[in-house]
Amino acid sequence: MNFVVTPPTHVSLPIVGSSARFPVGRIYCVGRNYVAHAQEMGFTGREPPFFFIKPSDNCVPVAKGTTGTLHYPSLTNDYQHEIELVACIGTGGKNIKAADALKHIWGYAVGLDMTRRDRQTEQKKLGRPWCVGKTFDESCPCGPITPATQVGDIENADIWVQVNGQDRQRSNINKLIWNISETIEHLTTAWELRPGDLIYTGTPEGVAAVVQGDTLVGGITGLEPITLRVV
Ligand code: MN
Repeated sequence: MNFVVTPPTHVSLPIVGSSARFPVGRIYCVGRNYVAHAQEMGFTGREPPFFFIKPSDNCVPVAKGTTGTLHYPSLTNDYQHEIELVACIGTGGKNIKAADALKHIWGYAVGLDMTRRDRQTEQKKLGRPWCVGKTFDESCPCGPITPATQVGDIENADIWVQVNGQDRQRSNINKLIWNISETIEHLTTAWELRPGDLIYTGTPEGVAAVVQGDTLVGGITGLEPITLRVV
């Protein structure tokens, strides 16, 4: 193929126990999917799930045992972490029922939905899209994928993130308002999932700012942890 400009590199994620890679397609993120986080954002937590999308090249793949780098982004003084379970889609579809949804998941990983919170809050007040708050280079780092066949009880797994060794967020996947299956049912009424798509399933309470020099370690029981340094 003869391209008129250099084609973009396809982002892919490492896989636990394999040298094969997972090609990243679209990245869907669920808003306010834990009650205590919805409350800290000023909401009741009783609303249907809603979604926003990040482009695949916002994803920073972080290999097992390595420290990923996050460059402190422009236009913010309130750069916040949101630790999230990431469901990685193996087989696509639309109008997927919750009862069938888990069969579409190839594996799971630990990710962070990094946010320019000051910009997001400002755009919410103005009734404008969240784009500048949520979508920017390196806004969604993700660790290695564990195949779904090898994870334990992911729906009752602990989820946490520490900054410089101190707990910031700590909860359990069973506190999701809309569980993984229900999220996929809702999502696929609006969009057709494709193999390679990622779903960031939402963050628990405790979101807070990081600054240059901070080290983040995020984990979910049964999955490879992710380590990141803000520079
Ligand atoms: Mn989020």
